This record gives sequence, structure tokens and C-alpha cells, in this order.
Amino acid sequence: MTTPVAPKLSPSESVLQSVFASAGRLNTSTEVVELLKTSWREVRAQIPVRMDNRKLQIFEGYRVQHNGARGPYKGGVRFHPLADLDEVRALAMLMTYKCALMDLPFGGAKGGVMCDPARMSETELNRLTRAYTQHIGMVLGINRDVPAPDMGTNAQTMAWMMDAYGQRYGYTPGIVTGKPVELGGSFGRDQATGRGVATCMREFSLVEKTNPRDLKVVIQGYGNVGSWTARIAAEMGFTIVAVSDVKGGVHNPDGLDIAAVDKHFAVAGSVAGFEPADPITNDDLLELPCDYLVPAALGEVITGENAPRIRARVVIEAANHPITPDGDAVLNARKIPVLPDVLVNAGGVTVSYFEWTQNIQQFRWSLQEVITELEKKMVATFHELMTRTAKDGTLPRQAAFDISLERVAKAITLRGFV
Ligand code: NAD
Repeated sequence: MTTPVAPKLSPSESVLQSVFASAGRLNTSTEVVELLKTSWREVRAQIPVRMDNRKLQIFEGYRVQHNGARGPYKGGVRFHPLADLDEVRALAMLMTYKCALMDLPFGGAKGGVMCDPARMSETELNRLTRAYTQHIGMVLGINRDVPAPDMGTNAQTMAWMMDAYGQRYGYTPGIVTGKPVELGGSFGRDQATGRGVATCMREFSLVEKTNPRDLKVVIQGYGNVGSWTARIAAEMGFTIVAVSDVKGGVHNPDGLDIAAVDKHFAVAGSVAGFEPADPITNDDLLELPCDYLVPAALGEVITGENAPRIRARVVIEAANHPITPDGDAVLNARKIPVLPDVLVNAGGVTVSYFEWTQNIQQFRWSLQEVITELEKKMVATFHELMTRTAKDGTLPRQAAFDISLERVAKAITLRGFV
């Protein structure tokens, strides 16, 4: 007889599991929970793009606005072959809770286009971004929905979005965040998510009374989040022993020279091949013995299957939703603490908030002001979460959802949504 296998949860079902558990602990009204189960609005758009070879390719794109009780919708735009509607919906839900946890005056949204940006030219990406913006423009607005970069998109993508939106609706720099500084972007937005991740690592080391100098860190992903985490954590004294990207990874148990990795990356376009280090696959990298394991690339990389083999002392979720619920259950049973994504990678949306306020005020903060304010916010929220965890005897992810669901539910009720 075969043992029945639990059906695999979709990304949005996984997020909802955390929300339902939190609603149970908080005794949240069933009407509020019912409202939060689905999105307020989901746009699915057909995006025809004339490719460089003159052939027409039709992409599918989405903008999901999950809940806006606490303010304008906020969330990144992902260009990735796996960015389907359910993944984008799950990420929009996470944004609702992330913004609430950080106490930012935003609701949650996310956008995505199913495409492979690595296989597209700059001109194709420019046309795709403009067509996408044209198709979702009617649901955006500086006080309605403000996109930002995510996987596969960057400051250049935001410049194209801002320009395409402006051509139709008038010059509006605050319509997106994560723009180039020359177009009204905030100093420090590029490093913000990584700085937030590294700040959480430093604060956790203080809580467990360890010294970053004695801690070995493994990072999966060397894009915006992974590379900045590596740089700033190295500056803080952590020893980065392994890093990777889609082409492969490198491992040196004595520590990698991150400045030298950056130089190699600039030439090779990948961390793979860096020396002195041994090559390692992305799967094996996740199972290296280390103090802090930082998944900073794709979602759902730690599952029920590989979680029993994870040898990190602590997992720091820099990517969104890098652990499946069954993987989470295994890590919890093994008493491996997990710092949740809604806290760890919230530095990005926090500086996006600073950028939005600077745009509205037509004013600019210095890099040092941005870094100081970001660190204040990350440190305060980190300790609020730790205090709640200790008070309620909950896990950090549970405490994060409890704090944020309380805030979202309060706003929903005050505004009379239910
Ligand atoms: P990015 O596109 O800049 O980098 C992604 C990295 O992941 C690259 O190094 C890429 O090579 C690697 N990668 C892609 N596919 C992989 C695979 N199959 N195996 C291993 N590595 C792979 O993206 P990013 O902005 O750094 O985002 C990374 C994660 O952080 C995502 O989960 C994103 O949602 C999350 N996040 C990003 C921000 C932000 O400000 N950029 C904010 C919050 C959360």
C-alpha cells in the first residue's frame, strides 16, 4: 500500500496557510479572513512584442493588487519564466503583510511577466516593459499603485516604466520606485534589500551573543539582493564561504574575498569559475555546513525533501518564499531558527517608501540619511518581532504574521471594508 502524499500547495495557498494560522491565534473575524483570501483586483494582460527578428511574440503579464486598506498598493514587477498568476498573487499577499509589519503606509501588490529576460535583448526588454506598462497603466497611480523592481527587473526597467506611464498620464516620477538616481530615484535603493538582510543577520548575532567574525555565511543568488548582502555582510565582518547564481556556485571554507568575486563577476557575468574556491552546484550549496544560510534567489528552494539535509544553524530568508510549508515544518522540528522573508527582505520596500516620499516632496535625502533611517526601521522591527516571539512563544514567522495581520485587520475594519 502506498502512503498518501499531501497535495503540493500552490504559492498562494502556502501564504494563506500562514495567514489562517495567524487568524486562528488572533481570533480574527471570519469576514476579514474571507476578504484577505482573494485579491482586490487581478489584471491579466496579453502583451504582444515585436522581437528583434521581426516575429511577434505574445507574453502574458499580471498586476495583482491584494489589499489596499493601509495605503496605495506597493510591490515589485518580476520578469521570469515561472512568474505565473498564482506566484504573482502569492507575492502580492506577502507584500500586504510585509508593508504592515514594517508599518509602512502601503497595501500589497505584485506584477509579473512570464518571460526570460536573460534571453532577450535590451531593445526587446524596453518594448516589453513599455507594452506591459501600457496594459496595466490604468490601475497604477502615485496614490493608487506604485511598482518597483524585483527578480529580472532593475532600475533601467523602472526608468522605462516611468517614461511609458509619463507619456500617457504626464510626468510622474513617483509612479515607480527603484528608479535610477538621475531620474528621481533614492540614493541607496540599489543596496537597500541587501542592507536590510545584513542588518537582520547582525541583529540576530547580537541576540545569540555571537560575533560576526566567527560566523560562516552561505548565500544563494548573486543578483541585487544576494550580491549586496554579501558585500555589506562582509563589511560587517561575516565570513562569506559560498555564493552562487543561476550558472553555478563557488565555495571556500576559509572565506571568499567578495571584492574579488565582484571583479570576477564583472568580467565573467557569473560567480562561477571564481578562484580560489571550489565549484559547487546550487543544490549542494544549500546543504553546506554554515552558521547562516541565506537563500536570495528563487522561491521554494528548501522543501520537505532537502530540509532534513540542511546543515545551517539559522536560515535567513532573503528571497521571497524560499521555504515551502513542509520544508518549514522540518526546519522547525529540527529547531533551526528561520528569520522570515516579510522581515528580512523588507529593506527594499522601506527605501522604496523613502523614495516615494522624496518624490512627493520633490526633495532628496543623502545616502547617509537613507542608510541611517533604513537601519533604524530594520532594527526596530527586528526587535519588535523578537519581543513578540518571546512573549507569545511563537516562531518568528508566526509572530511576523500576527503583528501584520493585526494591523491589516484593524485598517480593514476602520475603513469599513467589512
Ligand atoms: P535578481 O534578478 O537581481 O537576481 C536573482 C539571482 O538569482 C541572480 O543571481 C540569478 O542568477 C539567480 N538565480 C536565478 N535562477 C536561479 C536558479 N535556478 N538557481 C540559483 N540561482 C538562480 O533578483 P533580486 O532582485 O536579487 O531578487 C532575489 C529574490 O529577492 C527574489 O525572491 C525577490 O522576490 C526577492 N526580493 C527582492 C527585492 C529587491 O529589492 N530586488 C526586495 C525584496 C525581495
